Amino acid sequence: MKKTILALFMLLCLSLGGCCETVRAPIEEAQPAPLRDSAYTLLVKTEEAVLELPLGEYLAGVLLAEMPADFAPEALKAQAVAARTFALRKADTARHPDAHVCSQSSCCQGWLPIESCGEEKAEKLRRAVRETDGLVLTYGGRLIDATFFSCSGGRTESAVAVWGGEVPYLTAVDSPGEEEAPVYETVRSWSAGELRQILAQALPEAELDGPPEGWFRSLSYSPGGGVLGLEVGGVMLEGTRLRQLLGLRSTRLSIRVEGEQITICTYGYGHRVGLSQYGAQAMALEGKSYGEILLHYYRGTGLQRLSPGG
Ligand SMILES: [Zn+2]
Repeated sequence: MKKTILALFMLLCLSLGGCCETVRAPIEEAQPAPLRDSAYTLLVKTEEAVLELPLGEYLAGVLLAEMPADFAPEALKAQAVAARTFALRKADTARHPDAHVCSQSSCCQGWLPIESCGEEKAEKLRRAVRETDGLVLTYGGRLIDATFFSCSGGRTESAVAVWGGEVPYLTAVDSPGEEEAPVYETVRSWSAGELRQILAQALPEAELDGPPEGWFRSLSYSPGGGVLGLEVGGVMLEGTRLRQLLGLRSTRLSIRVEGEQITICTYGYGHRVGLSQYGAQAMALEGKSYGEILLHYYRGTGLQRLSPGG
């Protein structure tokens, strides 16, 4: 009997000890209150002026410039989180001496004044920003480089294949359901004469005198399905350089030569690293949340609220 009472007493002490631990823990781990978009004001450099904008208003303008407003709400919310993360990381890099970011998609990310669209569209975009208020993506406790693009053509590209530096969360992933995108597949043709002129100007050492079926050789591919490199008239060229030279929509491409006509078919549009906007739309239409979309494209990252100093 005494033993039973002792055992019960010990059990009670243990449970109380456990209770005390649970009460104490949140106090020990208390963090500063998370921040909202309203805590930030950005200086945004446009062609005309440098504007001072609350972060939320700026982000609605990024959505207007960067993603079709008729996309599903979860796709717009995924884009809002990516754009918020991208902007705050850029703001830290001092790329522009007089502003945090600019409004050019080729430099920072696109931005248009939200008042320039109709009230209904503006409200839909503002809602996507509001419903993700203060949320960003992090990796190893730091804001990620949340790159995005229009359409991958079925699979995204790793950062290392396009820019040469390994980024653990920017790897090649499948991006199904993009076939409906207007930029999924693009076909362009040149005559041998036209293409010879363009290529010879950029690659004077290239041998382009013979028939065009011998011009393109030794294509190598990245894990994302893009052309990493190829020989053009005997000169080695990176896939990204070929894209630039010919103004191609992506490096995911096939080349067909028929007589004197060269046809290049590209899949997707953009650098194809990070979030695919049409892929996000396909996932949203399948019922996936913005969080699921983001963690699919930015592998191993975390969705977190902004915190002071972090
Ligand atoms: Zn810029």
